Amino acid sequence: MDMEIELIPDEILKKESNLYIKGIKLADKVKLDYATDRHASFLVDHDGSIHNVMYFSEKDSVKKWQCDCKWYTLHDRVCSHITAVNIALKEKKIKV
Ligand SMILES: [Zn+2]
Repeated sequence: MDMEIELIPDEILKKESNLYIKGIKLADKVKLDYATDRHASFLVDHDGSIHNVMYFSEKDSVKKWQCDCKWYTLHDRVCSHITAVNIALKEKKIKV
């Protein structure tokens, strides 16, 4: 798969240290669901509940990353699951 994933810079992820710490813990629980040339879907096992994180290569940078969790829906900002996927990709725990 040739899709280039634009990761969220560390300095943005680390702004919310709570989320970053949760993301580190969840980074080992990330799996790639599927990827196309424009879109990737990841599953994050958060204490037994599975959350679906989506990446859209064509959307503007704020909307590239989305999650189905309640926190993301309420805040419309990067959540611990999106953080976890970014950490897992950065640390090469998973590959797209
Ligand atoms: Zn989430």
